[in-house]
Amino acid sequence: MNAIEQIFSCQRCGFCCQGETTVSLDEHDQRRMVLCLGRDVEEVRERFWRVTGTVVQMKTVGGHCIFYEEGCRVHAGRPWRCRQWPLHPSILDDELNFRIISESCPGIRAEIGYGEFCRILRLIMAETDKIAC
Ligand code: SF4
Ligand code: SF4
Repeated sequence: MNAIEQIFSCQRCGFCCQGETTVSLDEHDQRRMVLCLGRDVEEVRERFWRVTGTVVQMKTVGGHCIFYEEGCRVHAGRPWRCRQWPLHPSILDDELNFRIISESCPGIRAEIGYGEFCRILRLIMAETDKIAC
């Protein structure tokens, strides 16, 4: 069991893909998604992205991310914030953040306790500034 598996195991519930907004995509995310989809960037922008000024997000359909359909249809090209979730650094700042995120993500191994969870998360973050779950 690696360090991430000690604190998280995705249950594929799709809860984190629900809502009327999504994470934003940085330029690297945008390039990776375009490559993954194998389409022209303008087509991707038109069909899949919601662009507000300089902010690029994914469109939502039916209350969830446009790519959600019993799983992520752009898994290999998903944004880094989707890869990071639910191991958000704010967990280290406040136990309340840990509880809130645990309640929305059944993949969090909350049973190991906040202190132990933070200890392992710090070790993971010391190795990379962009966690990919
Ligand atoms: S990251 Fe959490 S909320 Fe998202 S699908 Fe996995 S278990 Fe569900
Ligand atoms: S890109 Fe994939 S993982 Fe991210 S919100 Fe959309 S469906 Fe979920």
